[in-house]
Amino acid sequence: MPTWPPRWTEITDAAVLAAIARVPRHRFVPPEWQEHAYEDRPLPIGHGQTISQPFIVALMTQSLALKSESKVLEIGTGCGYQTAILAELAGEVYSVEVVPDLSRRAGETLAGLGYTNVHLRVGDGWDGWPQHAPYDGIIVTAAAAEWPPALLAQLAEDGRILIPIGPAGWDQFLWQGVKRGGEVHKRCLGPVRFVPLVSPDLETEP
Ligand code: SAH
Repeated sequence: MPTWPPRWTEITDAAVLAAIARVPRHRFVPPEWQEHAYEDRPLPIGHGQTISQPFIVALMTQSLALKSESKVLEIGTGCGYQTAILAELAGEVYSVEVVPDLSRRAGETLAGLGYTNVHLRVGDGWDGWPQHAPYDGIIVTAAAAEWPPALLAQLAEDGRILIPIGPAGWDQFLWQGVKRGGEVHKRCLGPVRFVPLVSPDLETEP
């Protein structure tokens, strides 16, 4: 059994490390991948999607600087692992997923672990979730081609957004935005690799 969480020099927030230590990652991955759940790597979760690498989950969560009363929006629920980490640290977590089966399974896992502050919705995260805006934190776990205007609009004053931006498969960078005086100030945190944020409107069923 490897050291868990791994000793990441970049992750200094004790609350984030404690959340990673508490959440059982193996509960979120398919049975055939469970023996790899405590390795610092992404794993397949079905539907061509992946559970993010734990280091990236920790880095994005730390960069959100959440408080216990924060309201957070996540785009890309996936298996719900990042959702659980957010639920450990924030007040309420709203999460949007475009694949209904992933959202349903994430809901079952999160309910099975006893989380009551998580709210899931099936839909296109490009539009955010306006009904519960503004959000103190917004985290996007799939790479967008550009900054989604709806998400910037749904960010609270002093709120932070973490989002990978770039084309599918390559040349993606993780960005942090902070809203001050109604304007979002953007900072690049480094290269990353995420599955693409899909546009359901443009796609036809196979
Ligand atoms: N945080 C998740 C990451 C899953 S990968 C985890 O660790 O499990 C990214 C997720 O974004 C996938 O589940 C994918 O289906 C979802 N996604 C892609 N495009 C989307 C969109 N437009 N709206 C909402 N979710 C989307």
